Amino acid sequence: MATAISHDFTPGSVGSPRTAPSAGKVRWSGVITAIQPRAWVWRYKGNYRTHHETGFNLWVAGEDGKVVVAISALQQQKLGFRHGDTAAGTAWPVQGGKREIADLYRAGNLKVLNKPDRNADRGGPPFIDLVPAIDIYKQRGCRMLNPTLWRTVCMSCMWANKSRIEIEVVFGKSKRYRSETFCYGPKSCPKYAMGEPRDVPYRDSWNDFIEHTEDNGDLDSCLTDGRGEDD
Ligand code: SF4
Repeated sequence: MATAISHDFTPGSVGSPRTAPSAGKVRWSGVITAIQPRAWVWRYKGNYRTHHETGFNLWVAGEDGKVVVAISALQQQKLGFRHGDTAAGTAWPVQGGKREIADLYRAGNLKVLNKPDRNADRGGPPFIDLVPAIDIYKQRGCRMLNPTLWRTVCMSCMWANKSRIEIEVVFGKSKRYRSETFCYGPKSCPKYAMGEPRDVPYRDSWNDFIEHTEDNGDLDSCLTDGRGEDD
């Protein structure tokens, strides 16, 4: 059984926080079709971007549709979910969604119902083998990823990520929210493309209009400069 809540994979889904259709705890179950790091990102102008990795998101295909379930890093460490496992649990609908792209969070009663036989390493890309600990993602850093690639060829990759973004428009006073896609994978991955530079609006305290700055990829180099092309 899966919940009737489905995740919107379309580009138009990036926008204001979603309203959950129900506030009650639900049961979910189904086959895990993707495991990606769960994170939210703080932005200020085009040159400040901080990623907060908090756990993992499971994309679950059940009898009643698809659902995205947020779990903690500790839960992933204990249960060892892998792509293709059948899993089940309970969770609560996300309210507001300022920090979550998932449909459900506060997951509990987690179980692995079935683990298919696997060869040791299925290669890649996309990379769908053993999901590393969340600290590995923090150490690696990430680059902006074309949103079309994220929802197509990269969807099942353990290095792919979609995060909620908090933009500090008027510092300390006003924020905007949207979603963006990133890649924590090797810089040499042949599937990778950054996509368009990303607009980051802000207003300083001296004027009354919104300025537009761009994140054009320079931050990606800074955030991943600790590793080489094939790491
Ligand atoms: S571009 Fe990144 S997310 Fe996509 S397949 Fe390559 S490593 Fe995975």
